[in-house]
Amino acid sequence: MNARVTKRNIFRLKYLLLSIIGIQALFLFHVERLRLIENAHELVWVSYMLHSILTFYVMGTLLFIIFTQRKKWFDKAHYQRLPMMTVFVTLIVAAVISLFDQVTHGHVTLFTAFLLAFGLLIYIPLPFNLIIYTIPFGIYLVGVLGFQESAEVMWTHIIHGSIMYVGVLFTSTAFYANLVRGLKQKDALEEKNQRLEILSTIDPLTNVYNRRHFEHQVKYEASINRRYQHQASLILIDIDHFKMVNDTYGHQTGDQVLIEIASLLKSTVRESDTVCRFGGEEFMILTSHTDVEGAMVLAQRIREMIEKHRFLSEKTQLNITVSIGVTGLDPRAFDMSYERVDKALYEAKEQGRNRVIKKLMDD
Ligand code: GH3
Ligand code: MG
Ligand code: MG
Repeated sequence: MNARVTKRNIFRLKYLLLSIIGIQALFLFHVERLRLIENAHELVWVSYMLHSILTFYVMGTLLFIIFTQRKKWFDKAHYQRLPMMTVFVTLIVAAVISLFDQVTHGHVTLFTAFLLAFGLLIYIPLPFNLIIYTIPFGIYLVGVLGFQESAEVMWTHIIHGSIMYVGVLFTSTAFYANLVRGLKQKDALEEKNQRLEILSTIDPLTNVYNRRHFEHQVKYEASINRRYQHQASLILIDIDHFKMVNDTYGHQTGDQVLIEIASLLKSTVRESDTVCRFGGEEFMILTSHTDVEGAMVLAQRIREMIEKHRFLSEKTQLNITVSIGVTGLDPRAFDMSYERVDKALYEAKEQGRNRVIKKLMDD
């Protein structure tokens, strides 16, 4: 969170410093230089020096930011303090400059303008903003009270300065709270979207992919295979006499069998393969980079594994078998591949179940 606030502060600070340099350059080369020539008052000299110091300080900070504004710097604690430090130092110098300005030609624009710009643009939380704005404002007040000879001008400066100071404190606090709240909401929304994205691809009972995501994956695989002439296969698995399992042991036991088969399938295939629950008690596997012969080997292994597996617990005598259809994925007509693998499965059922039947593309 802090790094993100720092990122925004640094981004804004850069442009703020750049405009300060522009305005200061104008001051130094035009206004202050003319005053220096016209006015022999020694305070003008001091003011001229201070403006130069401020300009060099701002330039140095800007160059430092330009060379360091990389991601890893935003996380560092001292870098997070950089915007606050810059605001603090700049405001103190501006307050001191305004002391001399208001003696020599009666205005305090530099300080109040900086106060307003920083307060509106840089995010500083309580209580730091209290310290950062109060100390320069104190210097400003002391200067106005101590050095301004005209009572009328003094009161104008005090009232204007105070209004600006209080306003900046409120604004700065509110802006920071708002920014942090906005960022938190954004994070929560992103997290929620990510969760929804996962939920929308997974079958809630068995935790394997759902049919929608599977079909998306098949399209993607087909597009790659068209391009690179790779082969992929489909394996369709249907539980034999599953209605009987439900009728004999109850629907809940049926569900448990589905969960166990899904996890057996997931643990058997490669990571690059996609397992999905294609229908009620049907599972489909997309085997990436595998021809039909390779898929047949995997399908036989699956069939034997399920036949041998003890479902529910070691003691139960619940034997489950599956029938399996296998076919190649035709990357130009994957809809036809679904029909073919369905036919292969149908033949496996016809031939007596608990077996694997393949159908080639030109069968
Ligand atoms: P066979 O495939 O061997 O021809 O026989 P079968 O009994 O499996 O026949 P069929 O494929 O027509 O029956 C599917 C059964 O699967 C019907 C339905 O009660 C059951 N089933 C489908 N989805 C679920 C589920 O989510 N949970 C449970 N417990 N049963 C389900
Ligand atoms: Mg079925
Ligand atoms: Mg069945």
